[in-house]
Amino acid sequence: MDLYEYQARDMFEKHGVPVLPGIVAETPAEAKAAAEQLGGGTVVVKAQVKTGGRGKAGGVKLAHSPAEAEAAAEAILGMDIKGHTVHRVMIAAGAKIAEEYYFSVLLDRAERRYLAMCSVEGGMEIEQLAVERPEALARVAIDPLVGIDAPQARDIVEAAGFPANLKEAVAEALIKLWSVYEEEDATLVEVNPLVLTEDGEIIALDGKVTLDENAAFRHADHEALEDKAAADPLEAKAKALDLNYVKLDGAVGIIGNGAGLVMSTLDVVAYAGEAHGGVKPANFLDIGGGASAAVMANGLDVILNDPQVKSVFVNVFGGITSCIEVANGIVGALETLGDAATKPLVVRLDGNSVEEGREILAAANHPLVTIVETMDGAAAKAAELANA
Ligand code: GDP
Ligand code: MN
Repeated sequence: MDLYEYQARDMFEKHGVPVLPGIVAETPAEAKAAAEQLGGGTVVVKAQVKTGGRGKAGGVKLAHSPAEAEAAAEAILGMDIKGHTVHRVMIAAGAKIAEEYYFSVLLDRAERRYLAMCSVEGGMEIEQLAVERPEALARVAIDPLVGIDAPQARDIVEAAGFPANLKEAVAEALIKLWSVYEEEDATLVEVNPLVLTEDGEIIALDGKVTLDENAAFRHADHEALEDKAAADPLEAKAKALDLNYVKLDGAVGIIGNGAGLVMSTLDVVAYAGEAHGGVKPANFLDIGGGASAAVMANGLDVILNDPQVKSVFVNVFGGITSCIEVANGIVGALETLGDAATKPLVVRLDGNSVEEGREILAAANHPLVTIVETMDGAAAKAAELANA
């Protein structure tokens, strides 16, 4: 789960990372009040969207008075930044920036450890810097058993080439940022820019944090950080039903059991789709091993409610879940939906109790259901129906 900047700011503050005060506002009037609360001087009005490059998109504006903050909020609220609509701004105390630096720590899956990246040339051009002058971006491997302790922080600061008089203050900030990463079970903590102010202070001015949802059971307070309103409604529904669902852009709804089978089903459908107008899978949905008829019905309910879905491919290899359960789930779901079910279903069953499962579907003789015996054949049929 990615956090909004204001949530990252709050989290930084809780762990002792130096940040400036910030107040969230949803209207220009609230923005003006927030600027007054911050002392009436210079503030920065910042779009709160979960994407980078807000500065370049005009989503970060300096305001020298509460009235200017109000006007800036007026301009930024409702703005579209890379497909994200701005519903909130953060009014942050203005910093007098002398230098902009970069720091991040993230999970390096391939190396099975963490990776810290740091540069004295931070700011809005960091991606370009990483490509054009990679030597200016220090990369330091972090041993998960040690983390960023004082010696490690000194190494990072050294590698990035900070001037001697700043090394200690920066190292101290990095150790605090590491405590955010470790104690909150993050997979990414990024600060860009980490700034040196004209008063000589080191401050995290923009924060990006990604939390590991697999560790949610350890953090009762993380659920409140979830933005339920912004979530895709189908993904939210699937989550509430405890389904492993990811919305994609195509027209063929997919249900399968086992992540591996579902992944290969996506590939097979995308391939089959090439011969049928380029149709693509509409989602990933793994109902898991041991799924009951009710889980099957829940899965169909989510997929059939996706307006982009034109056909559905149910691809199940009966193991712990017998094909009897799957067939009953399909028949039950179609009964419940009644006339609301209007999209064709292609079903390929194999494995445990396959004959009985096919018999149940044949006996129900539902006009929307086609049984196809092979995975490739079923993918082709589903693609054809989606393109009809
Ligand atoms: P991003 O573009 O989405 O990464 O948003 P940032 O929060 O990093 O802001 C973009 C740029 O705005 C920063 O690199 C700074 O140059 C500038 N900026 C952000 N906050 C302040 C501030 O408090 N004072 C000043 N003068 N500039 C700021
Ligand atoms: Mn930034």
